[in-house]
Amino acid sequence: SQAPIAIIGTGIAGLSAARALHDAGLPLHLFDKSRGSGGRMASKRSDVGSLDLGAQYFTTRDRRFSETVRQWQAEGWVDQWSPTLFQSRGGQLKSSADEQLRWVGQPTMSAITRGLLGELPVTFSCRITEVFRGEHQWTLVDATGTSHGPFSHVIVAVPAPQAAALLSSAPKLASAAASVAMEPTWSVALGFAMPLSTTLEGCFVQDDALDWVARNRSKPGRDGQLDTWVLHGTSEWSRHHLDLPKDAVIELLHGAFAELIDCVVPAPEFTLAHRWLYARPSQAHEWNALTDARLGLYACGDWCLSGRVEGAWLSGQEAARRLLENL
Ligand code: FAD
Ligand code: NAD
Repeated sequence: SQAPIAIIGTGIAGLSAARALHDAGLPLHLFDKSRGSGGRMASKRSDVGSLDLGAQYFTTRDRRFSETVRQWQAEGWVDQWSPTLFQSRGGQLKSSADEQLRWVGQPTMSAITRGLLGELPVTFSCRITEVFRGEHQWTLVDATGTSHGPFSHVIVAVPAPQAAALLSSAPKLASAAASVAMEPTWSVALGFAMPLSTTLEGCFVQDDALDWVARNRSKPGRDGQLDTWVLHGTSEWSRHHLDLPKDAVIELLHGAFAELIDCVVPAPEFTLAHRWLYARPSQAHEWNALTDARLGLYACGDWCLSGRVEGAWLSGQEAARRLLENL
C-alpha cells in the first residue's frame, strides 16, 4: 500500500490541498500544532460565545473559488454577511455602504475548515519541527522528538517564516519562504452588557492605531448575551506595540474605539486580546505554490498569493494540482 502524503497545517490552504488530494483518491495525514483546525480563520470559543479574532470575512474574485463557496453555502458552512459599513479617516466617521458580497463561516468561522476536514486523518497539538527525506520517503519530527512517517510527499501549509524552517531539504524553497516578511496584528475583543447605541457593524479605519472594527454579534448565527466587538490594530501599530502586555493593548485599543465611534462606550464586561505574529504577508506574490517535484516537497499558503482567504485556498489547490501532475 502507498505511503500517505503529509500535510502540515490545517488552515484553509492545507485543507484545500487535502480535499483535492483526497478527492483524487490519495491517502494523506494532516498535522497541526493547534488543538483544532482553521489557523488564522479559526473562531475563538469564549465565555461570551465564539469570536472571530482573525479573518473577519472573505470575498471571492476567482471563478473557481466562487463556485466552491456556493457549495459551502449549500452545505450550510457559510453565509453572507452584509454589515452596515462605515469608514473613518482622520477622525471623521462616515457611512460607507457598498455592493461587495462578503462571506463568513456560520455559525462560526471555524465551520469551514471543520467541514473540509470531515473525517480526514489528523493529529492536533503536534508541532512539526523537522522534515527530512530518506532515500525514497519522508519523515517528520515533532517538538516532543516523536517521529511520524514514512510519507510519500510533504505539503507545508504554514505561514512563510515557519515554513522556511520546514523546507530546508529544498534550499530554493526555503529561501523563497524566508524572503517573505509577515506583519503582526493585535486583535482585541470587547463585550458590552448593554448594546452600544450605534448602527455601525463594520468600519474600515485609517487612523493611528485601528485598522478595522466589527460588531462580531452582527454576523449570522453568532450567539451570546453580550454585544461583542472585534478591533484590529494596524500592522504598524501592532509592530510598535508587539511586546506590550495584553491589558495595555486592550486599554489602548478600547480608547481608540471609544474615540472613533459616535456613541458612549462604557467599560466592557468582557475583554480578550490575541497577538497574531504572522497575520499577513507585507506584499502579495504570484507564486501560486512552491514546488520541488523531484523531491516531492510542496509549500502553499496565503503568502504565495494574495494574503487573503481566497489566496490561501487557491494556493492549496495549486499545490495539490502540481503534486498530482508529478505522480
Ligand atoms: P494559516 O491559517 O496560518 O494556517 C496555518 C496552520 O499551520 C495553522 O493552523 C497553524 O497552527 C499550523 N502550523 C504552523 N506551524 C506549524 C508547525 N510547525 N507544525 C504544525 N502546524 C503548524 N483574510 C481575508 O480574506 N479577509 C479578512 O478579513 C482577513 N482578516 C484577517 C485578520 C487577521 C487579524 C488575520 C491574522 C488574518 C486575516 N486574514 C483575512 C487573512 C487570512 O486569515 C489568511 O490569509 C488565511 O486564513 C491563511 O490561511 P493559511 O492556511 O495560509 O494559513
Ligand atoms: P474588501 O474588498 O472588503 O476590502 C478590501 C479593502 O478595500 C479594505 O481593506 C478597505 O481598505 C477597502 N474597502 C472595501 N470596502 C470598503 C468600504 N465600503 N468603505 C471603505 N473602504 C472599503 O475585502 P478583501 O479584498 O477580501 O480584503 C479582506 C480584508 O481583510 C481587508 O480589509 C484586509 O485589510 C483584511 N486583512 C487583514 C489582515 C490582518 O492581518 N489584519 C490580513 C489579511 C487581510
